[in-house]
Amino acid sequence: MPVQDYNEQTELRRYLWAHFSVICTEAERSVYKAYLGRQKAANSPSQDKMLRKMFGDWDDAYIASELRDGFDAFTDRVLQRIESECPELFYLNRCEACGHLVATPKACICSWCGHEWFSRRDEQDRIAEDAINRAEQNLREQAGGHQPPTRPEST
Ligand SMILES: [Zn+2]
Repeated sequence: MPVQDYNEQTELRRYLWAHFSVICTEAERSVYKAYLGRQKAANSPSQDKMLRKMFGDWDDAYIASELRDGFDAFTDRVLQRIESECPELFYLNRCEACGHLVATPKACICSWCGHEWFSRRDEQDRIAEDAINRAEQNLREQAGGHQPPTRPEST
């Protein structure tokens, strides 16, 4: 892709849903899912009812209100929340040459400027896997709704 076409916000939105939806809240994921259902229903109206069941009803008051300004605006609010609450969980694989976000957390080539770092592929894999594990760990803690075990008080 020509580098002048790079749009940071567009790339962040894509990367979030493709690779880090695990750091989104359950409510945010339910909006995303219903949005996908709505897209599918637009292409196959005869399956509308089944899709609402499978993906969640996009006319549900909460979901409809989150999508009122469009899916991108919704995603931008999610990105803002992540930025203020847990930026450390959102691992952005950026090209060291041009600084742009690359395709995936494990990518070793920049589709914007062509820079590549395949010689450090193992390291890149490890960084990406660690980041995804951390995010999934966080999700499990959220889902459990438990506080981490308290340390015994030292005397
Ligand atoms: Zn680059």
